[in-house]
Amino acid sequence: MSSVYHDYTGFQNVTTFADAFSNFQQVQGLNVFEKLWGAYYYYMGNDLFATGLLFFSVHELFYFGRCLPWFIIERIPYFDKYRIQETKLPSNQEQWECLKSVLTSHFLVEAFPIWFFHPLCQYIGIKFQVPFPSVTDVLIQLTVFFVLEDAWHYWLHRGLHYGVFYKYIHKQHHRYAAPFGLAAEYAHPVEVMLLGFGTVGIPIVWCLVTGNLHLFTICLWIILRLFQAVDAHSGYEFPWSLHHFLPFWAGADHHDEHHHYFIGSYASSFRWWDFVLETEAGPKAHKSRETKMKINAEKVQKKIE
Ligand SMILES: [Zn+2]
Ligand SMILES: [Zn+2]
Repeated sequence: MSSVYHDYTGFQNVTTFADAFSNFQQVQGLNVFEKLWGAYYYYMGNDLFATGLLFFSVHELFYFGRCLPWFIIERIPYFDKYRIQETKLPSNQEQWECLKSVLTSHFLVEAFPIWFFHPLCQYIGIKFQVPFPSVTDVLIQLTVFFVLEDAWHYWLHRGLHYGVFYKYIHKQHHRYAAPFGLAAEYAHPVEVMLLGFGTVGIPIVWCLVTGNLHLFTICLWIILRLFQAVDAHSGYEFPWSLHHFLPFWAGADHHDEHHHYFIGSYASSFRWWDFVLETEAGPKAHKSRETKMKINAEKVQKKIE
């Protein structure tokens, strides 16, 4: 019996998911997402299996689900004017190779450790019971995860561009100089684990420190992070892209330059690390750094005079 809820008095026997859901329909004070979540765990009857299956399915569904619109957009000539790089589109063969590699990685690298996720959550106190935490708690934690993952990603990714690390690990991800959505997770298994720590490890550390985290928040975080990663690799820049409204948001504009020039623009979600540490990629950023240096040099010269 699942421990997703504390009181099953009045619950009827369950043979289908609909039965489980109608039991939760009678619980007062739960919203529809909490009812669905509760019914899912109650119907599955095995919390470890339910969490494993949920996270594996969420990853597959939202990763490939988010890649699909890009796959369609690439085939509509109208959108060509929004492509960041004018080079040729990746061929069907290239995309197929990429898809096979990503799927293999999902099934070989991820499919086993995911079954240890529920026991780990229980051990460190990540809750999965209904009701969910407050909206404020969820929003604060999502913001913290975005900021910390970005920092982790910046330093790890920058490190992966050094000599042997690049040659034996990160080179695989740079196979496509003009990226496309599916290429987001096209990477060496060691890279998947190292950068994956930013996505999965940071919430775990957060819970160890604060003792306050719910699996639903982790689920939302993983979905948003998948969207960010796929979109950053889309290869398209629109007048309505998010960074036009949130200037510190990285987006495809930022990460495409990284794939194009192989150096610089290492962060994942935000632009501040690359801006402050002067590692933005591309000739435009190079030019503005040179101008800044020139102005500083002139100031120093004036002081001497
Ligand atoms: Zn790189
Ligand atoms: Zn990339």
